Amino acid sequence: MKKFAKRYTRHLSKTLNLLKRRDFEYLRHILRKKSGINRSGEAEDKLKMYKYLETLLAGREKSIPGENVLKAINNFQQGKAQIDSMPVILDYCDTHLGCNISPPCGKCFLPPMSKIVYNFTGNEFKGLEKALICADVIIVGSLSEIMLDKNYPGIVNSMSTNETPRFSHISNGVLIKNHVKNIVGKVRSILVSLDAHIPGIYGKLQGKSMHLNLILSGLKDLADAKQKVGTRFPNVFLSFTISKENVDIFKDYYEYFLNPGYSIDVILLNRLNKFTNANPGRFREKFVFDFDEQIITDTTYFGIIKDLKKLSRNRKVLFFELIDYLTCYPILGKNNSSGFEGPVCPLPWIYMNCSIHGEVKLCCYSPTNLGNWREHGLDAVWNGKKMIRIRNQIANFGVALECLQGSCPVVHKLRYILQQERVAYGIDDLKKDWRRYAPMIRPFIEEVCKGTLRETPVFFDNPGH
Ligand code: SF4
Repeated sequence: MKKFAKRYTRHLSKTLNLLKRRDFEYLRHILRKKSGINRSGEAEDKLKMYKYLETLLAGREKSIPGENVLKAINNFQQGKAQIDSMPVILDYCDTHLGCNISPPCGKCFLPPMSKIVYNFTGNEFKGLEKALICADVIIVGSLSEIMLDKNYPGIVNSMSTNETPRFSHISNGVLIKNHVKNIVGKVRSILVSLDAHIPGIYGKLQGKSMHLNLILSGLKDLADAKQKVGTRFPNVFLSFTISKENVDIFKDYYEYFLNPGYSIDVILLNRLNKFTNANPGRFREKFVFDFDEQIITDTTYFGIIKDLKKLSRNRKVLFFELIDYLTCYPILGKNNSSGFEGPVCPLPWIYMNCSIHGEVKLCCYSPTNLGNWREHGLDAVWNGKKMIRIRNQIANFGVALECLQGSCPVVHKLRYILQQERVAYGIDDLKKDWRRYAPMIRPFIEEVCKGTLRETPVFFDNPGH
């Protein structure tokens, strides 16, 4: 009875909250879901929705995203917990779930469906306006091949208003060739997941061997088109997930993409780790990708980073390890940065990872749920109790207790350094007795940042604010 009353009160307060906020669309969505009627979205709805976004972004003052970036950097460098800036990067996931690689890559811990499935009917952007107006980068389509969507040109146009394009997405690269015209100058950055430049290895790890030619030729077309139009957008990131199968080719891979014909901006080294493994072995053509067996040791991984940092010094194509990718965002393009200011990880100050159903995650690495923007409103999550506590902990200790739960690269390197330095406690002790160990980790956090872009900031991405 008590349980029933608690549930009833919770539902009632949720409904009242939504009525108060006049979020009828979300309320309708919940009712439809509860009653089992779940109509899938239609193309016109989607186009209308992206038109709404286009009007919204076109109507904002040009200076807003730039001012928001500066405010966010300031809040971050001072380690403020309650902040007056909005997210600089808005990662809006679950919008599209689809991938044209089948069977899925062995490394994919959440294989996307092989077609686009809309699971929210209504205006996905309603209620998120305040964040959308301020965001400098909007990422849409997590874990997906967004270019499969027939609305792709509409999506791109909605976010490429007047000055700098805002829209970024990930891709397996197979469809770039078809969309060069839609992408050039209109997409801010594309992160292409590409684990080999050799057809045989590519075929084992990702799509079919013949797809590789298609991807390489798409990248070349894109580079040509960028040059013709005279734009540096999109910035192209190649993400290389390292495993036993491709570890030996990584150096050659980096050198291969120094070829200006590809116009690659960054090569990002990614890694498999046991915290993201949710699948048994994946069968491909005469090859079984066994996730656990493919994980390389920390010593090999950090050794490769050291070598590549040397090799890539003063080269045109930047080499990022995951920590660079995380920690350098706020300093990219800001030539007034002195590199090492502020807390280690800027994400809670600049980044919001939200789903169309309202859930807000701390980041891609931690499963921590910060609240629901649809039910409680954006501000209540962005400056909510949980977020404030996390910002405080990151500012004081380097990481927050919530950061220890997932596959965070900062925590991974911290674990490695604690082991190397033979410190008497490890991440598991930190998890169990946070109060006791958290104040001791600061010197090791500084070790974590050594050799990263926190020390030597780069300025490749000058959005012209
Ligand atoms: S888990 Fe890692 S990436 Fe995420 S907020 Fe914490 S430190 Fe940053």
